[in-house]
Amino acid sequence: MSQFWSQKIHNLTPYVPGEQPQDQQYIKLNTNESPYGPSPQAIAAMKTACDDALRLYPDPQCLSLKQSIARYYDLSVDNVFVGNGSDEVLAFSFQGFFKQGKPLLYPDISYSFYPVYCQLYDIDTRTVPLDNSFGIRLEDYPTDNGGIIFPNPNAPTGRCLPLSDIEALLQRNPESVVVIDEAYIDFGGESAAALVPRYNNLLVIQTFSKSRAMAGIRVGFALGNKELVEGLERLKNSFNSYPLDRPALAGAQASLEDHRYFEQRRDQLISVREWTTNELTSLGFEVIPSKANFLFASHPQHAAKGIYDALKQRGILVRYFNKARIDNHLRISIGTEQEMQRFIEVIRSLM
Ligand SMILES: *Cc1c(COP(=O)(O)O)cnc(C)c1O
Repeated sequence: MSQFWSQKIHNLTPYVPGEQPQDQQYIKLNTNESPYGPSPQAIAAMKTACDDALRLYPDPQCLSLKQSIARYYDLSVDNVFVGNGSDEVLAFSFQGFFKQGKPLLYPDISYSFYPVYCQLYDIDTRTVPLDNSFGIRLEDYPTDNGGIIFPNPNAPTGRCLPLSDIEALLQRNPESVVVIDEAYIDFGGESAAALVPRYNNLLVIQTFSKSRAMAGIRVGFALGNKELVEGLERLKNSFNSYPLDRPALAGAQASLEDHRYFEQRRDQLISVREWTTNELTSLGFEVIPSKANFLFASHPQHAAKGIYDALKQRGILVRYFNKARIDNHLRISIGTEQEMQRFIEVIRSLM
């Protein structure tokens, strides 16, 4: 606390990310990072970008990366916005589209950064409860709103809505911006990117942090109607002309162009996820069917907090949320096959 702080700073409750312990080597199943490295082509491109050209500012338009993203999703370059991680793209979207006369709607259980942005930008909100099996019920979202946002697949549940449900929501809700946060879409869901040409109020946000194993370089992007993208550009150009550095731009583009590596790692992760789901189920866990790179599980006889502590003692980190409705659940990121075998072995010894 300081006399120099504004009232604004005093009132903030910042987001708390999952632990990134620096002391000992854990099996890290707590922050949904990829257990595999980025595409070797992406690593090579980033190394190549680390040369004398670093004395020059990067391209403020990020045009080459935007063109690759546009090609990948069969959209135009005017439909693409890029930022320093999808968290930055989300922050711009909250600031740019959600401060309306009516409340923003999002699920009571979802990405815990949303309420932080709302507080930062003074956005009026209303949370909409998930149903008893932690599903999003779109009928529960009144059309009288200042915007709608949710992750699809949802975090931390892993449940995914089909594209037809997203489209039905867009048809019913043409008067405000609908943001679909697709941080985990590559692990088995169907992207709403295909709907961008038909709905001028849709913004799809994705990241290179999860399925492309590049959380360390901070690249995220949004796909939307060109007026929405222009709005985001206006904010970005009023804040930081160069949020993406040269190595990040080169690495992200190379990753996007290496289809084979991407598909192979994605399929591998999905198969380890399904194996882990079966093992946990056979140990009596209730596991929500996941389309993400994590599982959300609880055990009817063993308290989640106790399992979390015991795992940590044995060198395995998972995520525990001390929050109403989900305080008996664990979120378990999918690691390598060996890591998950070890995880199951330890869990079995605890039961
Ligand atoms: C991980 C995550 C993000 C943030 O990703 P970055 O691109 O690393 O900032 C955004 N939304 C959800 C739901 C996430 O889980």
